[in-house]
Amino acid sequence: MKHLLLLLAAFTFFGSHAQQTDVVDFLEIRANLYASPENKTIEGGIEVTFKMLKDADSVYLDAVNMERLSLDGDYDNMNVEANEDKFWIIGNFKEEKEYKIFFSYRAEPKQTLYFTGDQIWTQGQGKYTSHWLPSIDDMNDKIEFDLSILVESEKRVVTNGALNSLTTRDSESLIVWNFNMDEPMSSYLVALVIGNFSKNTIQSESGVPIELYFRPEDSLKAEPTYRYTKEIFDFLEEEIGVPYPWQNYKQVPVRDFLYAGMENTTATIFSEAFVVDSIGFNDRNYVNVNAHELAHHWFGNLVTETSGTHHWLQEGFATYYAHLAEKEIFGDDYFYWVMYQSAEQLKELSDQGKGESLLNPKASSLTFYEKGAWALHILREKIGDEAFKSAIRSYLQKHKFKNVNTEDFLSEVRAATDADISNWEQDWLQQTAFKAMQAYSSLSESEFMDSYFQVSSLRAGQLSEKIDLLEKAIEEGNDFIGQEAVYQLSGENPLVSQFLYEKALDSDNLFIRQAVAISMDGVTERLKPKFERLLDDPSYVTIEAALYSLWNSFPNDRARYLDQTESIAGFQDKNVRQLWLALAIITPDYRLENKSTFVNELRDYSSAKYSFEIRQKAFEYLAELQMYNDEVIDNLVDASVHHNWRFRSGARNMLKQLSEDPEVKKSLYERLDQFSEKEKQYLTTKIISE
Ligand SMILES: [Zn+2]
Repeated sequence: MKHLLLLLAAFTFFGSHAQQTDVVDFLEIRANLYASPENKTIEGGIEVTFKMLKDADSVYLDAVNMERLSLDGDYDNMNVEANEDKFWIIGNFKEEKEYKIFFSYRAEPKQTLYFTGDQIWTQGQGKYTSHWLPSIDDMNDKIEFDLSILVESEKRVVTNGALNSLTTRDSESLIVWNFNMDEPMSSYLVALVIGNFSKNTIQSESGVPIELYFRPEDSLKAEPTYRYTKEIFDFLEEEIGVPYPWQNYKQVPVRDFLYAGMENTTATIFSEAFVVDSIGFNDRNYVNVNAHELAHHWFGNLVTETSGTHHWLQEGFATYYAHLAEKEIFGDDYFYWVMYQSAEQLKELSDQGKGESLLNPKASSLTFYEKGAWALHILREKIGDEAFKSAIRSYLQKHKFKNVNTEDFLSEVRAATDADISNWEQDWLQQTAFKAMQAYSSLSESEFMDSYFQVSSLRAGQLSEKIDLLEKAIEEGNDFIGQEAVYQLSGENPLVSQFLYEKALDSDNLFIRQAVAISMDGVTERLKPKFERLLDDPSYVTIEAALYSLWNSFPNDRARYLDQTESIAGFQDKNVRQLWLALAIITPDYRLENKSTFVNELRDYSSAKYSFEIRQKAFEYLAELQMYNDEVIDNLVDASVHHNWRFRSGARNMLKQLSEDPEVKKSLYERLDQFSEKEKQYLTTKIISE
């Protein structure tokens, strides 16, 4: 009976080639949920409100591998049945009528909801929210989601919308966090984070509350991590010209995230790798991702692409507005530099015949993001600031909380300008090649880029003939031109290049000094004192490179360099600390009594206690030093089934190499029973069998 009903239901829709969005509009999903870290399951009740656009005998919610539990109340003979990827709501539904149904469910999500250490978090885009919450995978049905989450009282919950209330349960050991959203959105933007967090709350100029989350132990990193957040928010509201359309804004870093950041409505999740102190900020800050995810709150969340063909309306716009925000903060030179970098990459792709149209739904990220940003930059130059901003405003206002295609944007542009944009459409939207000439002629409007091109054009020249120009470039102290000059010294005769390196090491500019640390091959006696000062530079990139170069160049001073840098951890991946451990381990006679502690510390960094960024580095050093043991190999097995595919595939390659040693293979075989089911399956099919 059940199967027959499902068959009939499926027939109603797909037999007539109708989309479900033509039949029903889901209006609201209210869910009360509990995620169990022990069982890695999620369960709870959901109340679904929908309005029929046509008569039908069933509608569905996407729900992957979910079990329907109770169905409470009297629902006019409605029923809910589960199959492998849907909940079918069955009834006698009439056009124009609204229906509501409440039922409970349980799921053991294979993706989208992740349990990492003491955190739980989700990634909806590309992974489908329907793995943990019954919802609609089609972006074209916008729903108001109100989530209530039950957690242990010491945990904090971040999800979409505004926190309405906190209610305690079971004599205060559990708390229900009730959130409310005022407006609808596509299901891929639903998010949930549970963890131990502190937060700082600030407010935009327009009065929007902005909550900035961090681990309690990272309290000193909160300011540098979130530096310029208010400036970015105020700038984007002003620049876009449409007020931020949601109740509040929250940002939260999580362990082992899949991407740099994700713009879940009012609840951006980003990678913990962007959590930095003031030194780390100089090298690797969150500003660009911060602005990009916020810009999506207009471009993507407020107006959402109808399909992948129009993906540039989200990524191209978010990338472009993030570049503008960075221009506001870091200045014009930085903006042109970033645009130049992306033009170089796009030109290379295009020269190889691999250029892609912006309207190709299968295009690469580089096309959607950077070519999209270039398209907008050129369009704005063509039609002027005023027409551009006016088109953006009416495009957003006309289509707010709805879906859009490229034509929706273009018709607002045409309405805002007398200029003919048909060539632009051809060159920047349809054309597969990258219009490098247009891009470079736009770049050369910048005096800075002009000077940069003068210096970079010297690359092939003799050092003796360009020495004065390089000296001038280093003295003038521009980040990018100075770096370019230093890079041109690489491989040159030290007798000639030395005095320029000396000048660069004396520069006030951090990035010029950093270029020396990264690119100089071998430190000479004459440069030694100045080079040693790099160990105190406020840059973890510089310190890491300088420590290695000095250690390499001056064997008699190794202990001194190690003593001096012992307490420096570096970025979130502990780049300086892990290099330090590797060097301390292989430096003969250095702290013999502590050697085994150093080895243990490095091995420990490969364990699941740490983020994948830390573990990846540890595995690399341990491989280089040949310091694998059973414990490290077990950690590698764990890594080879990790949810982050890049980390996982690196670990798999290492494990394959190691298991070429019959001893390793034998040991894995003997210990097979101590691994998890997933690990065991991987080992038996890919490692031990071969
Ligand atoms: Zn994006």
